[in-house]
Amino acid sequence: MELSYILNELGENHADYFNAVAPPIIQTSNFLFEDVDSMRAAFADESSAYLYSRGLNPTVDILRQKLAALDGAEDALVFNSGASAIFCSVLPFVKAGDHIISVKAPYTWAQRLFDAILPRFGVSTTYIDGDNIDEWEQYTQPNTVMYYLESPNSWSYMLQDLPAVAALAKSKNILTIIDNSYCTPIYQQPIAMGIDLSLQSATKYIGGHSDCVSGVLAGKKQLLDKIFHSEYMTTGAGCTPFHAWLLLRGLRTIDIRLKRVSDTTKKVVQWIKAQPEVESVQFCFDEDFPQLALAKKQMKDAFGLFTFTIRANDVIAIEKFCNALKHIRMAVSWGGHESLIIPRCAVLPRSSFDATNDKHRWLRMYVGLEDADYLCRDLRQAFDTMHA
Ligand SMILES: *Cc1c(COP(=O)(O)O)cnc(C)c1O
Repeated sequence: MELSYILNELGENHADYFNAVAPPIIQTSNFLFEDVDSMRAAFADESSAYLYSRGLNPTVDILRQKLAALDGAEDALVFNSGASAIFCSVLPFVKAGDHIISVKAPYTWAQRLFDAILPRFGVSTTYIDGDNIDEWEQYTQPNTVMYYLESPNSWSYMLQDLPAVAALAKSKNILTIIDNSYCTPIYQQPIAMGIDLSLQSATKYIGGHSDCVSGVLAGKKQLLDKIFHSEYMTTGAGCTPFHAWLLLRGLRTIDIRLKRVSDTTKKVVQWIKAQPEVESVQFCFDEDFPQLALAKKQMKDAFGLFTFTIRANDVIAIEKFCNALKHIRMAVSWGGHESLIIPRCAVLPRSSFDATNDKHRWLRMYVGLEDADYLCRDLRQAFDTMHA
């Protein structure tokens, strides 16, 4: 299906809503029935009829169709956060005694699920680097039921070879789940590469305007039906009609936003590599990136997030640099219009900062929709304050 069709037309039946161009927010908790028989049918299968908005809602439905098509998947569910998409993708497929293999340092709240919640129910997790297919094979146990991937990882940028991991998993009847937030299905198509379930934080590029927290999960209808009738409905984790409407609005421009972000990021990365205050840069499509060949094989492009290591003898110099930035702001998250930065030293007590540890001198930057020159000038004046 063509991207232009998905973003502009798919799922939109204007005659259902007064020929309005923009889909309406169907802001209702419940739906009326004309007769007992139609009510009975809805009770029998809540995934097939409008009954109550914790289940199906027409605004959310339009979004689901577009998101499923973007992922090349049979179906998609939309959640009130990326974290709930993670929770609801993992939980239905594990039971006491099962084992999961996950990439090291997955998204914080995925790791919390694996480390703090699942062990209470007898589910254990082994973390691996995941960049070598033999490692997946080596750590697979007879009770391994799930491989959890995040490629590229949003902090380390490490990649997994998606077709290879998917093929290994299929040969052992193991379910594969990927966090595809970094790329979105526009730049990486995990389902086509054989991964079973593909999730994203829609807060990032799909929303795109830093005004809405939500998540998406795409895959085979049979898997999503199972999730719908269990964790989706019991946790009430679905996206609200208003948030669905914001995401539909975000989708209209996602293609041009991503192109802009990826062009600007490459310019900023090239520029920043040449600055004397910068020791090194980690960016998936950079010529020095260790997994560049794999990145080019399975990702259409790279964009937005990169990390640079700043040269500094103490934490004060890094703080001076960050505090001096005028346009690039300090905040978590990414994928919006605004460029952002997170210094690694912000998650450490000042007293434990060690200048000889290059990770302590990491700064993760997200490039938004501003001009490359505008951002580079801001970075330059902030570097200058370090020497003042
Ligand atoms: C933000 C993020 C999530 C979680 O999404 P929320 O919408 O914040 O719940 C999951 N994975 C990655 C890689 C993220 O960056």
